[in-house]
This record gives sequence, C-alpha cells and structure tokens, in this order.
Amino acid sequence: MTDFAQAARESGFTNVAPLDPATLKFLPEVRSMCAADRCRSYDKNWSCPPACGEISDWEKKAAAYDRGLLLQTVGDREDSYDIEAMLEAAEENKRQTDALADRLLAAGEDFLFMTAGTCTRCKTCTYPDAPCRFPEKLFPSMEACGLFVSQVCKDNGVPYNYGDEKIAYTCCLLYHTI
Ligand code: SF4
Repeated sequence: MTDFAQAARESGFTNVAPLDPATLKFLPEVRSMCAADRCRSYDKNWSCPPACGEISDWEKKAAAYDRGLLLQTVGDREDSYDIEAMLEAAEENKRQTDALADRLLAAGEDFLFMTAGTCTRCKTCTYPDAPCRFPEKLFPSMEACGLFVSQVCKDNGVPYNYGDEKIAYTCCLLYHTI
C-alpha cells in the first residue's frame, strides 16, 4: 500500500500534515461563496458547482475514509498584491496535485481528493458541451465540497495564513487504512 504522506512529499507539496476526517464540516454557506463567482469558475467547469454535485454527496463520500492529510503548496511573494507570484504558486499546486493523483491512481489506491481551485488538466474544459475528458481524474475544490479551508486548517493545527510574503494553496486528501 502507498505511503500517502511520502507520496505527497515526493509530489512536491511544501507541507504535509495529518487531518482528522471527523473534523470536516460540509457547509452549504461555503457553496454560496462559489455561487458569488469571485473565482470566475462557477458553472464553467465539471469540477465546480453546480456540475460537481451536491454538498451532501461529498459528505457521504468523505464518510467512507478514516485517514486524511492536509497538503499545502506555500510560495513566496513580495506582498499581497504580487499577482504573478500567486499565479505561479497556484500553477505549482496544480502540477503537484495532478502528479500525486496520477501516482495514486496508477497504484490502484482508493482515495478522495479535494483540491485547491478549479480543475485545470485541460487547456479548455469541455463543460458543458461534452463529458469530462478524464472523469477518473476529476477532483473538486475543498470549497466546492462545502469545506471552509481556514477552519479545516485551524481544526487540524495547520497554518492557513503564512503572512504577507507567502501564499498557501491547501488541498485535502482522504484515504483509508484497511
Ligand atoms: S479534466 Fe478537463 S474536461 Fe474534465 S473537468 Fe478538468 S479541465 Fe474539464
């Protein structure tokens, strides 16, 4: 069986910390933040609401797993206006997420990945005109599942905010030991 924490570190994540799945609260009000469309992904990608399914479905899926990890990509930036550095760190996070997911899928592992931001595997998402090109590699964001990321971090003793000169992107990986 894969050592999930080791695989996450080898995929490049900066911070890999234990997560207790019992701390996860799937909140409809977080989904309302998606609907406000500040990230401009709402109703534009199979991994985002409304296409990604109901919050209650994700809560049920998550209940099947008894182990978890919080995975963070922490990048440097000059200040909170340094958009270029934030985009670079976000892209790095996606590379790490895809690398880890590909590795776990190739090993035949059963896991649930809730990521940071919309799916960017394809240059252009097929949504809504055709099915997802890689449904087995399609993972919604933590927010799309109704998870309040800063609260999940707090509940598991993991920093969410690393200060003005850092930017962190946080993902959540659930798995089970038997
Ligand atoms: S894998 Fe491609 S088609 Fe599927 S959600 Fe991601 S970007 Fe869209």
